[in-house]
Amino acid sequence: MDFSLSPEELQIRDTIRAFVEREVMPLEPEVLRSERAGGPGLDPEVLRDLRLKAKKMGFWGINTPEEYGGAALGPVMSAIIAMEMGRTFVPFSFGGSADNILYAGTEEQKRRYLIPTIEGERRSCFAITEPGAGSDARSIRTRAVKDGGDWVINGEKTFITGGNEADFVMVFAVTDPDKGANGGVTCFLADRDMGWKSEPIPTMGQWGPASLVFEDVRVPEDNILGELGRGFELAMQWIGQGRYMIPARAVGSAERMLQMAIDYANIRMSMGKPIAEYQAIQWMIADSQVEIEAAKWLTLHAAWRVREGMDARHASSIAKLNGAVMANQVVDRVLQIHGGMGYTKELPIERWYRELRLLRIFEGTDEIQRRTIARNLLRGHARLGTIGE
Ligand SMILES: Cc1cc2nc3c(=O)[nH]c(=O)nc-3n(C[C@H](O)[C@H](O)[C@H](O)COP(=O)(O)OP(=O)(O)OC[C@H]3O[C@@H](n4cnc5c(N)ncnc54)[C@H](O)[C@@H]3O)c2cc1C
Repeated sequence: MDFSLSPEELQIRDTIRAFVEREVMPLEPEVLRSERAGGPGLDPEVLRDLRLKAKKMGFWGINTPEEYGGAALGPVMSAIIAMEMGRTFVPFSFGGSADNILYAGTEEQKRRYLIPTIEGERRSCFAITEPGAGSDARSIRTRAVKDGGDWVINGEKTFITGGNEADFVMVFAVTDPDKGANGGVTCFLADRDMGWKSEPIPTMGQWGPASLVFEDVRVPEDNILGELGRGFELAMQWIGQGRYMIPARAVGSAERMLQMAIDYANIRMSMGKPIAEYQAIQWMIADSQVEIEAAKWLTLHAAWRVREGMDARHASSIAKLNGAVMANQVVDRVLQIHGGMGYTKELPIERWYRELRLLRIFEGTDEIQRRTIARNLLRGHARLGTIGE
């Protein structure tokens, strides 16, 4: 068993860490100022410049196949990079990537949707959730009905990340109500100018999801992504990737915050001593590191299974559940260690607190992950006592 990274992997990790510290973290005060004035986190121009800087260093299309100009670093390295990126709350991501399911497109769809998304010319969003179907995604009701050479879509989607900014949506609709999620749900690529409307949904965090309304939106037959009736499998494939990328980011955020708490505990005096000398504070620090380490290795294990082509669903649910809960526990302790200062807007802890709360909700709530893990065990799909099998 070898837990070490290769010299090349270590070099990538260190280069990204240096880039985040040198180029991205200095933008944090600006992001806080802008967000608190009600604006976007970063000016699109600044974001673009940063992406180009990263591109010059070779960080472009981290997980994109080489034939599309990407670096194809694979799931484990992508998770490690997400950990590094998670150290900052600046809303920056490397360019040159597209949703994994867009690779299921025809050559023509790849030309119109995949490649422009990789090149940053088009923006996508992924829409399965509806007002009446969140955790129970199998019961979506948005309907697509065939009319000549088109499909006509009617329905409403909600909480769609990037739904206000996207040029096109990967929308999931029922094409055969008798089959439903078992062969009767299809994914359509629907351009905004085909007629769907979006409305922002204010949230407690900086994420700005949107509700999308489809009223007789006509989508050509050629815009079916993948096969007719096989959309639910594509949706699960899209969500599957987040189940190790979400906890990976959480590990980076938690490590950064724990370092803030350690630094503060060493200088904050109370009753004649730095608070670092009190066992109550030490235990919060120790418990946090134990939980972060556990989350790190569960996440890397899930990513490793994906890389090896193994069934990663059970491991990914464990990693997502554990990482989301860990990050929320750590941010709460870090806020507590900072006392009143932790609660102010002078420090970014409250921002992180609000943002990390989402991790326990989207892409499968804590309860849904627990349900999946328990069912896998109860039905014998997953076994106890395995190591790397
Ligand atoms: C900021 C944000 C961004 C999002 N981005 C997207 C996106 O880009 N695309 C997209 O399609 N969706 C997106 N979502 C939707 C997200 O995936 C859903 O909110 C999530 O799956 C939960 O669904 P729900 O909100 O309808 O809650 P519900 O399903 O109504 O759940 C309510 C509560 O009941 C619990 N519950 C539900 N069923 C069970 C059960 N069987 N057993 C035990 N407990 C249960 C839940 O865990 C939760 O605690 C986003 C959500 C948010 C908040």
